[in-house]
Amino acid sequence: MPTYKAPLRDIEFVLHEVFDAEKHYQSLGFSDVNRELIDTILAESAKFTEQELDPIRHSGDEIGARLTDGKVVTPPGFTEAFNAYRENGWAAMSCATEWGGQGLPHSLMILFHEMAFTANVAWCAAGTLTHGAIRAIEAHASDELKAAYLPKLVSAEWTGTMCLTEPQAGSDVGLVKTRAEPENDGSYRITGTKIFITQGENDYSTNIIHLVLARLPDAPKGPKGISLFIVPKFLPTPKNEPGSRNAVSCGALEKKMGLKASPTCVLNFDGATGWMIGSPNGGLAAMFTMMNAARLDVGIEGLGAAELSFQGALAYARERLQMRAPTEPVCPEKPADPIIAHPDVRRMLMTQKALSEGCRALAYSIALALDTQDHASGDVKKQAADLIALLTPINKAFLTDRGLECANYGVQVFGGHGYICENGMEQIVRDVRIALIYEGTNGIQANDLIGRKLAGSRGKLVFDYIDQAEAFCLGNKFERLASMVASLQQHLKEWRQISEHILDAGKQGPNYTAAVAVYYLDYAGYVVLAYLWARMAQVAAEQLAKGTGNTYFYDAKLITAQFYFEQILPRTRSLVELVKASPASIMGLPEDCFGF
Ligand SMILES: Cc1cc2nc3c(=O)[nH]c(=O)nc-3n(C[C@H](O)[C@H](O)[C@H](O)COP(=O)(O)OP(=O)(O)OC[C@H]3O[C@@H](n4cnc5c(N)ncnc54)[C@H](O)[C@@H]3O)c2cc1C
Repeated sequence: MPTYKAPLRDIEFVLHEVFDAEKHYQSLGFSDVNRELIDTILAESAKFTEQELDPIRHSGDEIGARLTDGKVVTPPGFTEAFNAYRENGWAAMSCATEWGGQGLPHSLMILFHEMAFTANVAWCAAGTLTHGAIRAIEAHASDELKAAYLPKLVSAEWTGTMCLTEPQAGSDVGLVKTRAEPENDGSYRITGTKIFITQGENDYSTNIIHLVLARLPDAPKGPKGISLFIVPKFLPTPKNEPGSRNAVSCGALEKKMGLKASPTCVLNFDGATGWMIGSPNGGLAAMFTMMNAARLDVGIEGLGAAELSFQGALAYARERLQMRAPTEPVCPEKPADPIIAHPDVRRMLMTQKALSEGCRALAYSIALALDTQDHASGDVKKQAADLIALLTPINKAFLTDRGLECANYGVQVFGGHGYICENGMEQIVRDVRIALIYEGTNGIQANDLIGRKLAGSRGKLVFDYIDQAEAFCLGNKFERLASMVASLQQHLKEWRQISEHILDAGKQGPNYTAAVAVYYLDYAGYVVLAYLWARMAQVAAEQLAKGTGNTYFYDAKLITAQFYFEQILPRTRSLVELVKASPASIMGLPEDCFGF
C-alpha cells in the first residue's frame, strides 16, 4: 500500500529555486508572503494531507459513498477530514478578505490541492469545486448574490457544484435542455435533469450551491443560448442561513470505476428557484471561469497519480527480491536482488520520476501565472493570460495522460501484487482514469489547443512561448547542459514548423486538424516539459557550480533531466510523423465497413 509522503524538497526546488516564488509574490503586492510563510504553509499542508487524507484513501475506495433516503453518506473519516479542512482555515486560504478569506495568492491553494489530490483524490472535489464556484460568482454575479453566497462558500460551510452534463449533452453543452423560466421577482424556475454531478449531494456541508447551465424560453439554439444560474439546495434566509428546501434532489448515485468515495449524482431540478449569473445567453463564458480553474486542478490530479504511484513503486522495488541483477549480485547475502536493480524496473521508475517532476514544474508555472493574471495589470497581466490560455489544455490533457501512464507503471512494478486490491496500486489507475474524461475530454482539450489557441491566435500564443524558450537556450553557459539545450532548440524549431504546417492546413481538407489534434497536443506537451526540464537542470548545474546545498539532490536532477531528454523526449519522433501524415486512412474506411 503506498503511503503518501509529500515531496517537500522537490516542491520547494520548483517553487523557490526554479520560479523564485517569494519574488513573484512580492512583485504582486503580497509583501507578507515570504519564504518562511510559504514553507510553513507547505509543511502544514504536508501534515494535513499525510495525516488526515492518506489514511482514509483505501478504506474510502472499499466502502464508497452511499445514498440512503435521498441523503449521501460518505465513507468514515471523510466528513471529519472536511471539517478539519474548514476549521483549520484551508478552505479560505486564497479567498478574498472581503468575504472572510485570508487573501493569500491562489497558487498557494493549488500547492495544497496537489498534496490533497495525491493523498486522496476522491476526497478533494468538494473543496476544489467550491473554489471554482467562488471564482465564477466573484467574476460574474451581482453584488447581492455575492453577499448572499460568498461568505458561506469561502468558509466551506456550504459547498459548490458545477452542473453542465445532461444525458444528451456531454462534450456538446450546446445541447443542454434544462429550462429556466423567469419569475416576476427576478428569480427563475429551473427544470431539467443533470447527470454525473460531482458532490451534487454530500454530508460535508449544510447547503449545496449548484451552478447550473440552462436555457431561457427565447434562447437561440446551441452554445450561444445558454445561461448560468445559481441554484441552492436550501434557499438562504435574509440572515444567509439555509432556509426552506429548494426543488432540487438527488435521484441516484452512479456506480463507477474509481473515485468511489466521491458521490456522482443524478440531480433533478423540478421548478427549483435560481438566479442568473452573468448575462442572458452568456452562461458558457461565465462557466468557463469555473472550468479553467477546474482544468488546472484536473491536470494536477494526473500529477498526483504519477507521484503516488511512483512513491509506491519505489518503496516496493527497493524491498522486493527477484532474480539477480544482470551485472553482478547487488545483495549477495540475500537469496535474490531487489528488483530496483533490473534495468526494466529502473526504466519504469525513472519514467515515473521524470514525468512527475516535469509535470509539477508545468502545473506550477500555470499556478503562478494565475496569480499574475489576478493581481497584475497591463502587458504583464495580458502575457500571463496568454500563457494560461496556451498551457491550460496541454496541462489538463498531458498531465492526466501521463498520470495514467505512470499509474500503470506502478501496477507493473508490483507485478501480480499490483493487480491485487489490498496493495492499493490498482486503485490509482481506476481513480485517475476519469481525469482524462471530465472537465472536457482530452480529445476536446486537443481541439481547443489546435483550434482556439493555435489557429485562433494565428499561432501567436505558441510562437511567443517558443520565443521565450529559445531565449533561454541562448543563455546557457553549462557544458553539462549542452546536448539537452541543443535538442530543445531543435524541438522548438520543429514545433514552430509543424504549427505553421497546421496553420496552413486548409489544403489538407476539413478533417486534417481534428485528426492530428491529439498528436499535436502530445508533441507540445513533451516539448514544454523539455523546456522546463532544461530550466530545472540549469538551476541544478548552478548550485553544483557554487558548491552549495545537497550535491546528491542536484546531481539527481541532472541525471533525471538527461533521462527525460534521452528516453522520453524521443517519443516526439513518431508524433511529428503523425502530425504531418494525411488523415486519409483515419477517415477512409466507410462507416458500414467497420465490422462484418
Ligand atoms: C465521475 C464523473 C464525474 C463528473 N463530474 C461532473 C460534474 O461535476 N459536472 C458536470 O457537469 N459533468 C460531470 N461529469 C461529466 C463529464 O464532464 C462528461 O462525461 C464529459 O464532459 C464527456 O461527456 P460525455 O460523457 O457525454 O461524452 P461524449 O461527449 O458523448 O463523448 C464521447 C466521446 O466522443 C468524443 N467526442 C465528442 N465530441 C467530439 C469532438 N467534437 N471531437 C473529438 N471527439 C469528440 C469525446 O472525446 C469522447 O471520447 C462527470 C463524469 C464522471 C464520469
